[in-house]
Amino acid sequence: MNSEKYTNDDVYDFLSEELKYHSDIKHYTSKQLKKHEGDAEFWNTLSDSLDCFRVCEVCQKPMIVGYCVDGSCFCSDECLHQVMTDVAFKEACEGDEGDSFYTVWYEDSITFQKHKGE
Ligand SMILES: [Zn+2]
Repeated sequence: MNSEKYTNDDVYDFLSEELKYHSDIKHYTSKQLKKHEGDAEFWNTLSDSLDCFRVCEVCQKPMIVGYCVDGSCFCSDECLHQVMTDVAFKEACEGDEGDSFYTVWYEDSITFQKHKGE
């Protein structure tokens, strides 16, 4: 998976695969997950159980790569810019008190580890 470029469908496929390894969570096909697009409550509940993705604060879509600013997550430049500029984000990253960064969450997933052969 290219960390810079993925579509929402890729995310649904990925999460659907990931769910198969979690017997304690309800399983969904990627098609079923897609039906929940825009359903913030659904995604927030699921992200409490699955550590390999977050929910974008602005567009409410599941995200596996993106920005984190003091606990709020943003999936893309467009969404980040709804809240702050690049300059403000940079400053947040450099500040001592802030907890801001750009990261990938899918590396915490079981499927990712399996693909890497671990
Ligand atoms: Zn977004």
